[in-house]
Amino acid sequence: MKIIVFDVGGTAIKFGMVDENFEMIFSGEIPTQEFEHKGNMVMAALESRLDEFRGRYDAIGVSTAGQIDYANGRVVGGVANIPNYYGSEIRKVFEDKYEVPVAVDNDVNCAGIGEAHFGAAKGCDDFLCLTYGTGVGGCIYMNGDVYRGSRFAAGEFGHMATHKDGRMCTCGRIGCYEAYAACRVFTDAVSKRMGRPMTGREIFEPENINNPIIVEELDKWEDEIALGLRNLCYMFNPTLIVLGGGIMSEDLIIKHVNEKLYAQLEENYLHVKVVKAQLRNKAGMFGAAYLANEKLKTWSK
Ligand SMILES: [Zn+2]
Repeated sequence: MKIIVFDVGGTAIKFGMVDENFEMIFSGEIPTQEFEHKGNMVMAALESRLDEFRGRYDAIGVSTAGQIDYANGRVVGGVANIPNYYGSEIRKVFEDKYEVPVAVDNDVNCAGIGEAHFGAAKGCDDFLCLTYGTGVGGCIYMNGDVYRGSRFAAGEFGHMATHKDGRMCTCGRIGCYEAYAACRVFTDAVSKRMGRPMTGREIFEPENINNPIIVEELDKWEDEIALGLRNLCYMFNPTLIVLGGGIMSEDLIIKHVNEKLYAQLEENYLHVKVVKAQLRNKAGMFGAAYLANEKLKTWSK
């Protein structure tokens, strides 16, 4: 049994092949010029890989940016950065053409499912997963499954309001969590004050991490991260919160965020642990593989 998987992001498309033990046999990235961030070209880029490997997979799993109607495998929102992608009938188009089951879900949901079955949240039935990048994405995992909401848009933690009269968010509203807690906000602030563009990785180099400007900006950013997590703890009372995305793999951030969060919680919330994601940039593909395998179990053409 093999499953071909994709992870469609705003800036990159990754793909891979997973076997019956959920081992990734190989993985790669589709060159940007093949899809140029346009929805119709994204579909064509996926199809070219599906054609290339046809006959070598039993199911297709797609983890993708945007709000996804999970039941129908259709893109229903949140893809302003990928023109023409809205409305794409990923499941129908691929099931009709390739005659294998197709599972499609939002990328953070897929990351959460990946972490739940193969990573940092293995064995945990109630947890939250957040990813910090250019924005903040979220996945609500409850009672052993993703909670997707009435219109497949639950868990968009990046747009909960944490600052009244605050900054303008990319969504056009004011004071959203991601306008303060996204990784990009931190790297932009550091770059501005340091007078040169700096990536997250550079900031955490030993020669930079103790720079007073960086220490100060890191502290401010971690305060923002913890503030949002505090709200989520009071809403969901989770045992575990998994943080993913670029620099969340830094142990220092996880340590500080745990400390800042505990300082704001009371007794019945204090058992929560904030941990880093384990599957790194393959979490979405593993989650999509899991969903595709579930579909395969009940598949009849
Ligand atoms: Zn927003």
